[in-house]
Amino acid sequence: SMPVTVPCQDDWDGQYRTGKTLGSGTYAIVKEAIHIETGKYYACKVINKKLMEGREHMVRNEISVLKKISSGHRNIVTLHDYFETAHNLYLCFDLCTGGELFDRICAKGNYYEADAADLVRTIFLAVKYIHDSGIVHRDLKPENLLFRTQAEDADIMIADFGLSRVMDEEKLTMLTEICGTPGYMAPEIFKKTGHGKPVDVWAMGVVTYFLLAGYTPFDRDSQQLEMEAIIAGDYKFEPKEYWANVSETAKDFVAQCLTIDPRSRPTAAEVLQHKWLADKEPHFVPDP
Ligand code: ADP
Ligand code: MG
Repeated sequence: SMPVTVPCQDDWDGQYRTGKTLGSGTYAIVKEAIHIETGKYYACKVINKKLMEGREHMVRNEISVLKKISSGHRNIVTLHDYFETAHNLYLCFDLCTGGELFDRICAKGNYYEADAADLVRTIFLAVKYIHDSGIVHRDLKPENLLFRTQAEDADIMIADFGLSRVMDEEKLTMLTEICGTPGYMAPEIFKKTGHGKPVDVWAMGVVTYFLLAGYTPFDRDSQQLEMEAIIAGDYKFEPKEYWANVSETAKDFVAQCLTIDPRSRPTAAEVLQHKWLADKEPHFVPDP
């Protein structure tokens, strides 16, 4: 997707001064912003209204979702401020200075299994909190998982609720719009058979695979082939050399998350009971 350029404004609402660009997605650019009065730093998501034409509901939705869960979970970015100008919408979040999980995986090659299990457990505890609040994130992927600081042991934070929906209890299982990012999308999204909370568990299965191996399970030469592989649940723990240091318990965990039928897929609460996350001892012990 093309990065969005937002008209330069140095004085948002007279309250913030902007700094460097932190990232950009389909509809938004995220900039470091300093709140002039308090000197505090935030990450401000600037959304150009023109590019949002007809899709403003997506942003209003993001705001309502974030408000709903703003009571706070340590591993979810907090929305601190929201305002609009003629051209833009502004959402000010906690500033995460540690970068995306995506970049840490790329820098490391892959994660040690015990470290991966710690991260996945923390993320799933936050996902359970989100699900218990009646919300589906729908866009969990390493680009939307950020580290609070640059420290090695920094908190992992869930960001980007732009595609999530406050779930109407009645319609819980019947969200049929195509959304999300192909590589992390669950089979039921492509099959248009309705989807809800289980899509987040699937996406976390893909994230976990990526953490352990350093590459994603459904990478194919075209989006069509990728989609077919996802629908068929066609992935392997191969090439073998990338999986030599990974326990059977970890592979079983990934396989559980990547259950094709969403009704048989474990819930966030259930995956937290899986041996891989429930035991704190390492499952893979390297040869001395
Ligand atoms: P989009 O909906 O366009 O994907 P995101 O909310 O995911 O927007 O933000 C895009 C990128 O900006 C993220 O992938 C991340 O690199 C950066 N970013 C977003 N929120 C923050 C934050 N709170 N702190 C630091 N960087 C952030
Ligand atoms: Mg994003």
